Amino acid sequence: MKTLQVTELFSSIQGESTWAGCPCGFIRLAGCNFYCAWCDTAYSRGAGRTMTLAEIRDEVRKWHLPLVEITGGEPLLQPDAATLASLLLEEGYTVLVETNGSLPIDMLPAGVIRIMDIKCPDSGMHEKMEWSNLDQLAARDEVKFVLASRTDYLWALEIMQRHDLSRRCAAVLFSPVTGWLEPAELAGWIMEDKPPARMQLPLHKYIWPGHTRGV
Ligand code: SF4
Repeated sequence: MKTLQVTELFSSIQGESTWAGCPCGFIRLAGCNFYCAWCDTAYSRGAGRTMTLAEIRDEVRKWHLPLVEITGGEPLLQPDAATLASLLLEEGYTVLVETNGSLPIDMLPAGVIRIMDIKCPDSGMHEKMEWSNLDQLAARDEVKFVLASRTDYLWALEIMQRHDLSRRCAAVLFSPVTGWLEPAELAGWIMEDKPPARMQLPLHKYIWPGHTRGV
């Protein structure tokens, strides 16, 4: 019986991506291979609890939500995350998978909407990206740059242009790191340069300030 290590299961308001604001079920898988300087989900590094795919599916059914996100940590560290995604697609859910972009995203079944973080220099992880993943992105997928500084912003502009991401993906998302980069400062840069990107703020952190889990 196939199993996954799970950090938490919860339903909430989707806080990020073009799906922000939608009620969504979250499956946060355990483990991560990155150490981003500003990580806000370090608790997902733990071993988690073992659940069968059927147990996870049964929990998802209880939410009665059409939208589900598999996240982490880094969900693709567990190959059966792809099996779970297939199972949920077969059940008729819209399935988002958020990944740090370090592992081949083509392991995921067609139909999954992949939201790939492109790690910027201030994260300390940008040299660990699997850049061939950018060639795999499809029109339904989204890419996210989490920006901690002006350096990150300029770097993101360059990567976005070099890989023609705004044309190839559903959205390019620019998100300021909470406590590192003021939203108004990022907004000012975007208004000045007018890149084909969408600024986003983590909606769930504004709805439930101070809550680090289950939102
Ligand atoms: S990839 Fe995500 S979970 Fe892993 S260290 Fe970076 S922010 Fe944290």
